[in-house]
Amino acid sequence: MIKSKLPNVGTTIFTVMSKLAAEHNAINLGQGFPGFQMDMKIADLVHSYMKKGFNQYAPMQGTIELRRVIADKINVMYGHSYSPDHEITITAGGTQAIFTAISSLVHPGDEVVMFAPAYDCYAPAVELNGGIPVWINLTFPDFRINWEEVKNKLNERTKLIIINSPHNPSGTVMSADDMSQLEFLVKDREMFVLSDEVYEHLIFDGVKHESVSRYPDLAKKSLIVFSFGKTFHNTGWKMGYICAPEYLMNEFRKVHQFNVFSCNTPIQYALADYMSDKDTYLKLPGFFQEKRDKFLAALQGSAFTYKPADGTYFQVLGYDGLFDEADTALAVRLTTDFGIASIPCSVFYPVDAGQNALRFCFAKEDNLLEKAGRILGTITGLN
Ligand code: PMP
Repeated sequence: MIKSKLPNVGTTIFTVMSKLAAEHNAINLGQGFPGFQMDMKIADLVHSYMKKGFNQYAPMQGTIELRRVIADKINVMYGHSYSPDHEITITAGGTQAIFTAISSLVHPGDEVVMFAPAYDCYAPAVELNGGIPVWINLTFPDFRINWEEVKNKLNERTKLIIINSPHNPSGTVMSADDMSQLEFLVKDREMFVLSDEVYEHLIFDGVKHESVSRYPDLAKKSLIVFSFGKTFHNTGWKMGYICAPEYLMNEFRKVHQFNVFSCNTPIQYALADYMSDKDTYLKLPGFFQEKRDKFLAALQGSAFTYKPADGTYFQVLGYDGLFDEADTALAVRLTTDFGIASIPCSVFYPVDAGQNALRFCFAKEDNLLEKAGRILGTITGLN
């Protein structure tokens, strides 16, 4: 009998809900990926680099062309200078960056503070490295962090705190005050920050993305994860990057080189060319804000409760008083009976926190959003 290293991990809810959605021909607002085509200019660039023969291993840390464009972008957006040579590494998506960062820092017995609801790859990576997740629950509809509670969880075993803003699944965004509080807590402690900023460009209503790189004392102790897939509508390419001060990046690269060694070569050359036009990423917030607004406008009149998402492409809807069943059961029933697939928020908590809320992805074609919103909008009483 094999002794599992992750005994509690089974098939993810994302797979389950997508399969159910397909079986019932439901509108799939479950899994978080764009339901529309990316810009064909990137595809043409990749193709041309392939034809020109850029098909062998890229440098371990990524092509210098792409690292330079990234350094420039972060400097322009957040005012922090990362050295392309020593402080930026191209990864196989945000997920690999997160796994490798955790593996390079967390030793057996180290504690890692994280907030639930949380994206599902953090805790397994901590546990595989013998670390201990220390959870802090955030609750619907504000999902705000109580920094006093965070302070009380820190001790000499705390190695890392993982933050994620804009936040999946809640769609909330950390404020300047949140960042100052974090900076204050971390400054004089022997601990680091892993900041998951894959949704940096998906932020609405003029809200500013408070990247940890904006805060010099925080940046000194942080690794920041980004994803090209989220930015350029090609999640299937699994391309991302990580930025960190040199002493942390050295440790990251030691693990990275035995984890993937290097990432897709022609895509790196293509992205460097494509991103030299800043509009490719600066126009994104408006695009997704329109989608959020379409979905919410179609929902008008429904009895679901919500705060409009400030960022990401997710909207959480609460159903207290509308349905009296657990969110996992409701997500199934909404798919089979109403034709709309979502993700129950309980799966983002280590233990169900009874939030009675579902996550809907609005990175979909407008007609699907309008249809889904209308159907949900008709649900007005206890069903
Ligand atoms: N972090 C968060 C919060 C995410 O939602 C995702 C993707 N769903 C990732 C990281 C992983 O990004 P990638 O697809 O580039 O691995």
